[in-house]
Amino acid sequence: MPDTRCDAPGCREKVRRGHLMCLHHWRRLPRPLKQAIREGWINRRGDLGLQPWFEARNAARQWLTDNPEPATTAAADHAAYVDRVQQGAYWHD
Ligand SMILES: [Zn+2]
Repeated sequence: MPDTRCDAPGCREKVRRGHLMCLHHWRRLPRPLKQAIREGWINRRGDLGLQPWFEARNAARQWLTDNPEPATTAAADHAAYVDRVQQGAYWHD
């Protein structure tokens, strides 16, 4: 069972009970992986129990490891923005 932290490797974001990952990481996952996780959870009381969910979850973690964030684009964008503001670009253009 997941605790109330995001399951993505390295992420410490708190998530609501019953949620596997924070919204940010959940949104990054390809649709088939999300579907596998959802279906695994829905069918957790079936013959296979949590096994399919567990495998889908591991596949999602692996996917996130294999597809790291593009070098913190948001942070870079913000730094560039602050630079321009400090140069006065937005005030005197
Ligand atoms: Zn996360």
